[in-house]
Amino acid sequence: MKVGVLALQGAVREHMNMIEKCGAEPVAVKKVEQLDDLSGLIIPGGESTTIGKLIRRYGFRDPLLEKGQNGFPLFGTCAGLIVLAKTIEGGEDPHLPLMDIRVQRNAFGRQRDSFETHLHINGVGDAFRAVFIRAPLIVEVGEGVEVLARHKDQIVAARQNHLLAASFHPELTDDSRFHRYFLQMVQAYQHKHPVETK
Ligand code: GLN
Repeated sequence: MKVGVLALQGAVREHMNMIEKCGAEPVAVKKVEQLDDLSGLIIPGGESTTIGKLIRRYGFRDPLLEKGQNGFPLFGTCAGLIVLAKTIEGGEDPHLPLMDIRVQRNAFGRQRDSFETHLHINGVGDAFRAVFIRAPLIVEVGEGVEVLARHKDQIVAARQNHLLAASFHPELTDDSRFHRYFLQMVQAYQHKHPVETK
């Protein structure tokens, strides 16, 4: 099972290692043609404005929107969560408006730029070490969105069918439970849409 990591900018390598650790084959995705071989894609942390620009420049926007509307599993972490949001606070244009969430960028303020905490994540487990780096928050979710985790009452992880998002960086610890959770979503998709091996 091949799972991609969008490799235009950001924390790509760590996600690739996690995918491998979970027994799937990671692919660093730099070209649109690579999408056809994949059963799922992670959009990593980094800088969402930059990732959004590169998604447009390299022609990823339409194919990813099309796939995302047709059940293809996508997992956005940190900047990747912002990329998947239908609404970004402050009037910024959305990048891949797929997930019915409203997000606030850099929501934790300067003093708390980066921090770690332990979270309970529904379906994933307890005491998950979550690393936040200039992280966004989900300030509102639509009806079809399941809240998976909160930090001090604020939403930091959510799922909408085949779309998964986290404010923090699950790739930066040794704990692969969140990636395994995503890979189960990928597996379910793959059963329905087997990728032809070339
Ligand atoms: N602050 C970044 C943004 O708004 C996200 C930070 C991250 O991905 N670690 O895009």
